[in-house]
Order: sequence, then C-alpha cells, then structure tokens
Amino acid sequence: MNSVAIIGGGASGLMAALFAARGGADVTVYEHNSSVGKKILASGNGRCNIINTTATHADYAGSDPRFVTYALKQLNFHYFQSLCHSIGLLLDIKEDGRCYPLSNEAKSVLIALKSAVSQAGAHILTESLVTSIAQEGEAFIVTSSNDKRRYDRVLIATGSEAAPQLGATADGYAFARSFKHEIIPTYPSLVQLHLSSKYAPKMAGVKTVAKVTLMIDGKKEGSVTGDILFTPYGISGLAILDISQKASHALLHKQRVSISLNLLPQFDTQALTNTLEKLFAVIPTQNIQNALCGLMPAKIVTYLLDDAGVVLSTHVSMLNPKEVKKIAHLIGEWKFEVTDTHGFKHAEVSGGGVSTAQINPKTMESKLIKGLYFAGEVLDVVGKRGGYNFNFAWASGMIAGKEMAK
Ligand SMILES: Cc1cc2nc3c(=O)[nH]c(=O)nc-3n(C[C@H](O)[C@H](O)[C@H](O)COP(=O)(O)OP(=O)(O)OC[C@H]3O[C@@H](n4cnc5c(N)ncnc54)[C@H](O)[C@@H]3O)c2cc1C
Repeated sequence: MNSVAIIGGGASGLMAALFAARGGADVTVYEHNSSVGKKILASGNGRCNIINTTATHADYAGSDPRFVTYALKQLNFHYFQSLCHSIGLLLDIKEDGRCYPLSNEAKSVLIALKSAVSQAGAHILTESLVTSIAQEGEAFIVTSSNDKRRYDRVLIATGSEAAPQLGATADGYAFARSFKHEIIPTYPSLVQLHLSSKYAPKMAGVKTVAKVTLMIDGKKEGSVTGDILFTPYGISGLAILDISQKASHALLHKQRVSISLNLLPQFDTQALTNTLEKLFAVIPTQNIQNALCGLMPAKIVTYLLDDAGVVLSTHVSMLNPKEVKKIAHLIGEWKFEVTDTHGFKHAEVSGGGVSTAQINPKTMESKLIKGLYFAGEVLDVVGKRGGYNFNFAWASGMIAGKEMAK
C-alpha cells in the first residue's frame, strides 16, 4: 500500500484524496487552514460554479493550453455528474454549460466531498502548514508545523496566490523550485483593473452594460459584452473579469494595455449618430446632458461630455454635426489606459505557475522527480470564468489520485 501525502485540502487535493484512498493508498491531506475547501465555499458568490459541460483546451490559458486535454477527457462532464450523484450531489445545469449544485449552495459541494473523502479512509490534518518536502531515496519527508513524516508519493495541490485572505499561499512554487521545476511567472486573473483616468473614480458605483474591447500594444485582442462597474481605482464587473487574463498577462510583460468601452453596443457609430440626430430634432431645446440621460447613466453622461469638450448646458439644437459625431464616437469607443490589476487579493485565480512542460499530462507526475505529483491551480493553467478552473482542479486531482495509488 502506497503512503501518499497531499499538500493542500482544496478542490484538487480533496479530489485526489478521494481517488487515491479509493485506490487503496494510505492518504494524508495537509491543510494549513482550520478547515479544508475555503475557496470552494467562497466560489461562485457562495453558489459554486462547479464545472462547465463544454470545457475544452480553448477555455484555458498557459504556456501549453492543450496540456488539459487528456485530463478533461478523463473527467468529462457525464463522468463528473455520475461521480457527484454517487456522493449525493445533484447538479443544476444551465443552458450555457455552467453547473451549480442543485442546492445553489457551495456548502453542499464541500459537505458531500468531505464526507466521501473520509468514507474512503483518507486522513485530513488541518492547521498543518507544510514547510518543506525533501527526497530521501525513493521516499519523501514532509515537514509540517506539527511533525515530520515519510511518504512514498507526494502531491502538491497548494493552489495559487489568488485570494490570500482564504489561505492561499505561494508555497507550492517554492516546493516545486526546490525540486528544480521551472515556474512560469504568475499574475492575477479574473480580477478588476486599474485605470489611468480622472473620470473613472468620479463615476465610482455606476454600473452599466458595455462592450469592452481589449487593446494590447494598440492591437485589438477581443471584446466581451457584459456588466461593467466603475470603481475608485478603475473598473470592475463581469465583462472586465472576462478580459482580465489577457490584460494582466500583457501588463506582466510590460505591454501597453488599454480598453475601449462601447456604452451603447446596440448601435454602431453611424447608426448612433443618426439616432442622436433624430432624437435631438424632437427635443431641440433640451440641454445635451439631459438629452443623453435617456440613453445611459447620468454620471457617465456628465464625464463623457466633459471628455468630449462639450458644455453640459448646450441646447442640442446648437450642436453642429461634427460635435454630434464626436459624442457618438466617444459613446462607441471611450478609451481608458489600464495601468495595473487590482492584485492577487481580489483575483479569483492566478495565471502562470509550475511549468506543464515538466509534468506528464496523463499522470500529473513530475518528469523530473518520480513519485512527485502536481494538480490544480499551482500548475501553469488558468481557466476562463464559468466553472473551468474547478473543472481542471477536479480533473487533474482525480488523475493524480488514481496514479498515486498504483
Ligand atoms: C472568490 C473566488 C471564487 C471562485 N469561484 C469559482 C467558481 O465559481 N468556479 C470555478 O471554477 N472556480 C472558481 N474559483 C477558482 C477556484 O476556487 C480555484 O481555481 C480552485 O479552488 C483551485 O483548486 P486547487 O485545489 O488548485 O487550489 P485551492 O482550492 O486553492 O486549494 C489549495 C489549498 O492548499 C492550502 N495550502 C496552501 N499552502 C499550503 C501549505 N504550505 N501547507 C498546507 N496547506 C496549504 C490552501 O489553504 C488551500 O486550501 C474561485 C476562486 C475564488 C478566490
């Protein structure tokens, strides 16, 4: 029987514990928090977007997104769904592929998983901070804040630095480095962005729907339409989180990052110019500030007009065609420079991590050190918003767990 140490009692560690223990291994999970699965509890605004039915490598970023392909095939959605049923967890499957527990409570995911892990016979040590992992012949010595123990196999499932308030650490990278693994530089992802703008802080608290286009070194890198929210530091909202991985990666590499907001994505510039001209003809004595308030939030109107150099009290009949065009253009393409992200504390996940080039995707074992395994977010794999990050954590954890029991 293999003795297995799993460092980290998060999504990937618990999944690995379940499969390793079911496979007959003697499993010990080390978790430095007072309880396991804190990110599971906090996920999806307390609802846990547990998986996505449609996940493929295209939903991930990293040096080699195809690294996930084998794992996602092994833990395909139907397999995961029946696994959930077998531990008493029913799923609510949304049309776009996102899945949540039927209870709509993240708590139920953790309760089901934790009891399955215990029933399988794995031991969970909480308040046990692992401080080092050393090799001794073919075995490993795991030193924790409580003791020192010997194991045949070790899984590093310590996650990333994102959300340190939930117990996240960068320890996994240090352990990996101590075994000569390469770490791809990490960066916050699914995170809010800082803008260099005198207007953004003044619009703090204003929420609207916009088409957000990301520009890197002046080149369009894609667009997302969804909620945006101005904040004292810059901008937040689901559309911003969705473009944040590419933005944050570019900032890490010192590229120039900006966003362009289309505040009325229903119109192109010409259609909007025509609409504004028609609207202004109906209300010629209205001032431009009030006239635009029927189209978008009032605070946005105030600062957008300031940026356009148009006096708020100007009667719409006094605007010349060039000015109307300028306003329409700014509504369709209001540009902001991105200076930073809001940091790991506010990020849901991290990009970068242990290089997947040194990991066998079919076993999750290190190609450098026999018996050493990696799973989950500690690896250089980061998913989109929508259940993809748990998806890979479950899949890689399952594979590592099965393999470590062999
Ligand atoms: C607020 C929030 C919401 C999220 N919502 C979603 C969502 O709805 N859907 C989705 O797919 N993803 C979501 N994510 C991302 C998802 O939670 C992670 O991708 C996933 O938890 C990664 O699993 P993991 O096992 O790799 O790491 P984790 O779940 O972070 O687990 C790592 C564990 O290791 C422990 N640890 C670290 N260092 C040590 C050490 N030295 N000794 C002992 N223990 C240690 C940590 O305390 C932690 O419990 C969310 C993340 C956050 C922060």
